[in-house]
Amino acid sequence: MSEKEKKNEQNKDGGYKLHVGKIEEGFVIDHIHAGRGMQIYHDLGLDKLDCCVAIIRNAFSVKMGKKDMIKVECPIDQFDMDFFGFVDHTATVDVIKDGEIIAKPKLELPKQLKNVIHCHNPRCITSTEQQLDQIFILTDPVKGTYRCKYCETAYKQDADRK
Ligand SMILES: [Zn+2]
Repeated sequence: MSEKEKKNEQNKDGGYKLHVGKIEEGFVIDHIHAGRGMQIYHDLGLDKLDCCVAIIRNAFSVKMGKKDMIKVECPIDQFDMDFFGFVDHTATVDVIKDGEIIAKPKLELPKQLKNVIHCHNPRCITSTEQQLDQIFILTDPVKGTYRCKYCETAYKQDADRK
């Protein structure tokens, strides 16, 4: 689809009213379940990034009704693809460079997460030894359960959601 066609498409269904601007380099996480955007934002540590991040909540989606989106403008070299694995299975990621989509990484749960999520166990060695890497191992690929490598505490996706 050309840029012009895309514009027409957007005007027609009115789904892009909230314009956040075109990204030159960065990534867009789309089709996030409505309400999950903020949690993914925190899980991925995007709050710690020194770059432009936009969270769009309850955007209109033909397929999902409502969805959340996250747009991040940053040098993409600083992310490895594992980074995206922890996002919803339903979500899609577009990696953008020079204003073009250069990759759509498949969202599979990585076997191991390093410094992506943090152990919530206050007695875990990572709580006291701050320089240790936060490493989580995928112990149940079906349920998507991750356990801390050090204390085996399971990371609960819902733990921070109230
Ligand atoms: Zn732990």
